[in-house]
Parts: sequence; structure tokens; C-alpha cells
Amino acid sequence: MTRTPPFRNGDRLRLIAMVDDPAPIPPGTEGTVNGDPTFFADSWDTPMRWDNGRTLSMVVPPDQAEKIRCRHRDDGRGRCIDCGAFID
Ligand SMILES: [Zn+2]
Repeated sequence: MTRTPPFRNGDRLRLIAMVDDPAPIPPGTEGTVNGDPTFFADSWDTPMRWDNGRTLSMVVPPDQAEKIRCRHRDDGRGRCIDCGAFID
């Protein structure tokens, strides 16, 4: 069986729900997948760097997020701070 992670390193996401964490990230928070998701116990452990500065991972499922289009923020050297894309 091939398992495909729902999100990939560098994807920009908006959180819909974080279920089991005692100090969850608020719904609606945007962030960037910050590494390759790993499959563990029927869920994808998805490392995140949230725009509010937190780095709490998502566990998908039960956590839910949607992919969004990156608005690109220039790091001053022609690359996006959030997704790493080269921008003009
Ligand atoms: Zn970007």
C-alpha cells in the first residue's frame, strides 16, 4: 500500500482544527510545512512553522488544514521566507 502524505514540505496551510493538543494553534492560523511528514500510528506527523512563531506539529488526522496559495514574502535575497520559492 502506498501512502501519500496530504501535505508536503513547503506547502502553505491554513489550520482548520487541531484536536488533541492541550495548547492548540488557533483555527485560521497560517503556516508552512517545515519538513517531510512522517507516517506514525495511522496519522501523518506534519512538522509546521506557524506564522505566529510556533512550531507545533500537526497530526493528520485528526488535525485538519487546507492548502492555500502562498502570498510570498521576499527574504531580501529573492526567495520567499515562507515557501522558499524564487520570486522576482
Ligand atoms: Zn512563498
